[in-house]
Amino acid sequence: MRRPIVIGNWKMNGDYAANRELLSGLVEQWTGVHQAEVAVCPPFVYLAQAAELLENTNIGFGSQDISKQASGAYTGEVSGPMLSDVGCRYALVGHSERREYHGETSQLVAEKFQAALDNGLIPVLCVGESLEDREAGKTFDVVGAQLLAVIEHCGLAGVAKGIIAYEPIWAIGTGKTATPEMAQDVHSYIREVMGPEGDSVRILYGGSVKPDSAEGLFGQKDIDGALVGGASLNADDFVAICRAAE
Ligand code: PEP
Repeated sequence: MRRPIVIGNWKMNGDYAANRELLSGLVEQWTGVHQAEVAVCPPFVYLAQAAELLENTNIGFGSQDISKQASGAYTGEVSGPMLSDVGCRYALVGHSERREYHGETSQLVAEKFQAALDNGLIPVLCVGESLEDREAGKTFDVVGAQLLAVIEHCGLAGVAKGIIAYEPIWAIGTGKTATPEMAQDVHSYIREVMGPEGDSVRILYGGSVKPDSAEGLFGQKDIDGALVGGASLNADDFVAICRAAE
């Protein structure tokens, strides 16, 4: 039985006042016992604020990235021990915006995945194809290669300790969502690549998920929740997506 999970990726958005309003809206609307696990990933500088406002709630938080190094002369980096120290439960790794704008290779992503595991964090591995890849019929090749790089470095059992997020690049922030069937095909392929661990690993869909598209996606048997960007900045929309996951 895989517990559904919805994670909000705030990207580079927010400030103290806006975060306070958003988090208090979430806390108010997400009380009691829930089947779905819920978390948000604010920018690094606001993790301590999230720790304070989410204390004793059933909403977790995580980082949007993690250094592969544990400490030392790595200006601008934030390490796994620091993220654990501030109370993070999750760390996103390999988001397409990091691969594209910061030149992150699959090898580096694999090392970051391991760094998260080494520090008791749950890594959320983002994989996904570009529009060009999809149109060339290379979706499985691209997603498979991104996943295999991490399997080779961390082992199947290591990857299974994390969460995988299938995020087609052409659907991120564009308003174009993959159809539930398109997403299901790739999720099912990911389970196949995960072999014996395929049944237990949680696989999220990400890419313009909104309250009205969430239900159809979550109705697919291999979709265990969502990684949500834009819609996670609005408490009502995010909570509606979380409810759809239950
Ligand atoms: C994301 O950044 O992971 C994402 C899925 O963004 P959006 O929901 O805005 O497409």
